[in-house]
Amino acid sequence: MKRHFALSAFLFFCFSFPSHGEGYGAARQRMVEEVLADADATASYSGISTLSPGVIAAMGKVERHRFVPAALAAVAYLNRPLPIGHGQTISQPFIVALMTDLMGLNKGDRVLEIGTGSGYQAAVLAEMARSVYSIEIIEPLGKEAGERLKSLGYHNVQTRVSDGYYGWPEAAPFDAIIVTAAASHVPPPLLKQLKPGGRMVIPLGTQFMTQFLMLVEKQQDGSVTNRQILPVRFVPLTGGH
Ligand code: SAH
Repeated sequence: MKRHFALSAFLFFCFSFPSHGEGYGAARQRMVEEVLADADATASYSGISTLSPGVIAAMGKVERHRFVPAALAAVAYLNRPLPIGHGQTISQPFIVALMTDLMGLNKGDRVLEIGTGSGYQAAVLAEMARSVYSIEIIEPLGKEAGERLKSLGYHNVQTRVSDGYYGWPEAAPFDAIIVTAAASHVPPPLLKQLKPGGRMVIPLGTQFMTQFLMLVEKQQDGSVTNRQILPVRFVPLTGGH
């Protein structure tokens, strides 16, 4: 809590927004511009030259300040990860946008997220897909995020507290899967729960070595291809596996 406060106070004085008369909307718009600039700067690595209009609209709509601890609301629209308690973080907006874009979502899709955290990524997904299933291993985080999403009207998101390594078999198969914690390998249960033609976006690597964001595609014939997108840094995927 103390650390949150110190960080919050520091960043508040550096950036001091939302400032007089300017609501969160203007700050969010600036965040979207920074996300677009990051996408542009990394286009030659990521292979994504422009984010899709749906992703840009979702990033411009979801109220990130409602997903961070109250003490950090004033800095919620910085393009950076922020602490959400229990040693976890809400991902950097650019990474949320990039991962969402890589999922190539359609309006009718059913998607699975591993690592609900604050619920922010789930909300972005909910703007773009038919239904979102999100699993969190830390009970208080999962419960809080589930309540937050409900109170914000995201009725197409279902959350559960369990080890996401094993996925959500009763709700499978999924059109797309996103893992928001770094794993040493692609969890076989998740691959099994992905539809042929489906996409999984997952950071692979250990906590102390370079991790890479990977796009894993299951072809119609069941074969799997991997593409390395960008070096990233995520909290580790924990659990009993
Ligand atoms: N998507 C989140 C970011 C969360 S950070 C957001 O938008 O805020 C990664 C999250 O993954 C953490 O909350 C962590 O507790 C969770 N996590 C780690 N290992 C997990 C596992 N095996 N199953 C489910 N969640 C896990």
